[in-house]
Amino acid sequence: MKILRFPDPRLRIKAKDLKFVDSETKIILEKMKELMYAEDGIGLAATQVGIPLKIFVFDLSEEKNDPKVAINPKIIQFSREKIIFNEGCLSIPNLRIPVERAKKISVEWFDENGNRFVQQLEDLSAVLFQHEIDHLLGKLIIDKLPTEERREIIKNLLSGKLPEKLSTSGIPPTYTIAVKPKEKKKSNSDSSVT
Ligand SMILES: [Zn+2]
Repeated sequence: MKILRFPDPRLRIKAKDLKFVDSETKIILEKMKELMYAEDGIGLAATQVGIPLKIFVFDLSEEKNDPKVAINPKIIQFSREKIIFNEGCLSIPNLRIPVERAKKISVEWFDENGNRFVQQLEDLSAVLFQHEIDHLLGKLIIDKLPTEERREIIKNLLSGKLPEKLSTSGIPPTYTIAVKPKEKKKSNSDSSVT
């Protein structure tokens, strides 16, 4: 199992609902968790490893020892209030983009044991779910950029101007673009990679 990198066309595939969790699914989930930790991510969607099913793994714990699984996640409600967060993506190494998203969401998902969750998430967890659910819809953070910036970034990505290896956590990203949000809203200086 390997993380697909932009511009791999498989990152654009819309994932399908997972009908049931069998032993094969459990192996996939374990491998995804391992990969997420190995790459210093806090989330990893199945689309990112070439499996077009609505699954992602995540870990929002401080100690990075509490892996969780979200199956068939669905956002029920988005808050009007927005948050801007510097997002990274394991499929687009070394890039951080300020992305504006709903600050709060209500979301439904299942875990690998069939338990159903309906929760209201806020800030980082809301951002993470929106980022991962975007992956399951074939969307990437660069899609959120204004056309000009997006063209520039894609040109750089395709010409290999951005460094290959993802910087480890704690080290500032080697490449950051500054995009001015249309309105000044609450900004979060933290960043994370999913
Ligand atoms: Zn991502």
